[in-house]
Amino acid sequence: MMRGLLALTALFVAVLGKDTFEGHQVLRISAKDEAQLALIKDLEDMIEFNLDVWRGVSDVASPVDIRVPFESLQSVKIYLESQGIDYFIMIKDLQVMLDEQQKEMENARVAQPKNTDSFDYKNYHTIDEIYSFQDMLVAENPNLVSKIVIGQSYEGRPLNVLKFSTGGTNRRAIWIDTGIHSREWVTQASGTWFAKKIVTDYGTDPTLTAILNNMDIYLEIVTNPDGFAYTHSSNRMWRKTRKPNPGYSCAGVDPNRNWDAAFGSAGASGYPCSETYHGPYAHSESEVRSIVDFVKAHGNIKAFVSIHAYSQMLLYPYGYTRTPAQDQVELHNLAKKAITNLASMYGTSYRYGSIINVIYQASGSTVDWTYNQGIKYSYTFELRDTGRYGFLLPASQIVPTASETWLALMAIMDHTYNNPY
Ligand SMILES: [Zn+2]
Repeated sequence: MMRGLLALTALFVAVLGKDTFEGHQVLRISAKDEAQLALIKDLEDMIEFNLDVWRGVSDVASPVDIRVPFESLQSVKIYLESQGIDYFIMIKDLQVMLDEQQKEMENARVAQPKNTDSFDYKNYHTIDEIYSFQDMLVAENPNLVSKIVIGQSYEGRPLNVLKFSTGGTNRRAIWIDTGIHSREWVTQASGTWFAKKIVTDYGTDPTLTAILNNMDIYLEIVTNPDGFAYTHSSNRMWRKTRKPNPGYSCAGVDPNRNWDAAFGSAGASGYPCSETYHGPYAHSESEVRSIVDFVKAHGNIKAFVSIHAYSQMLLYPYGYTRTPAQDQVELHNLAKKAITNLASMYGTSYRYGSIINVIYQASGSTVDWTYNQGIKYSYTFELRDTGRYGFLLPASQIVPTASETWLALMAIMDHTYNNPY
């Protein structure tokens, strides 16, 4: 019966063209010591299991979250149990959770909003809805917001950046991007909320007003549009870009390993089917290359914030080396202030520090490159949660997540404004 149901579902899904995650589980695995940690690291690299690492091996104190396909569950559990490694099932059947969220999204769907006031910030949206939101925001605020197209994705979608500016030429600027990893949906949703927040607060909030009277803010909400469209159409768990890898059946490059900062060294994979594949060469992905060209051409970006999910962390360079960044003390103190402000709203607790110390070694990441370009205030966020829902954060948490994150962003922007360099 179960098998018949599975077969039927597989057929149904094949017709619709969406990947199914029926029977997939997300396991939370905890190492007792370094030896077990190494065994979990080995497991991550066993390509025959088709595992999807949601939260990778870091240190003994930090659990590892891995999505295990139905076919591999028994083998993975036997591996863990035979080594005496503790785990528990965090998500029992991923497809059940996906179906619930899909239904919720469809129920929430209303007629196309006429303006950004009636836009539904409490729910997740498709790429077309976000693009149309951006155009409405520009039309409603012609003296504050404009849209720049910095390039095209591999599949030809525009790479839209919202520019918030009250005038001047080539002012000092702050860059914020969301959604470079497409499945991290709370980030694009938060980016949309930030855009509205900026136009709402300008002229009423004295801090933001002062910032925007002197600086520009650039916001790229859908930083990986092909991947994002794919999470809606075909595979909710898609993280990478969508460019084919010649000679391999699996597509895509990890756009957070593709930057020219220790590119291709430890902390990225050379295997094209890996979720952390660094790509054939630095800046091979147009989604990355377009930002590189924009940042270099602009030349006056003073803070660069790249927003991911999940884990609740605020991170600064470096990811590829343990050598502290030259500005480590200032970056650390500012991170502390930012996460303290963030926690003041709902008590959400964040860890903070350098990428390599707080998570793990990562090469070719965005903020290592921006920092090496001389952008001192380079930060990466990992938004909610700590794993209960992982990438499938319920829509009811979008506005709370965006609101608390905004307080941290304001701390970083205000500090950048007050500490010119
Ligand atoms: Zn990410």
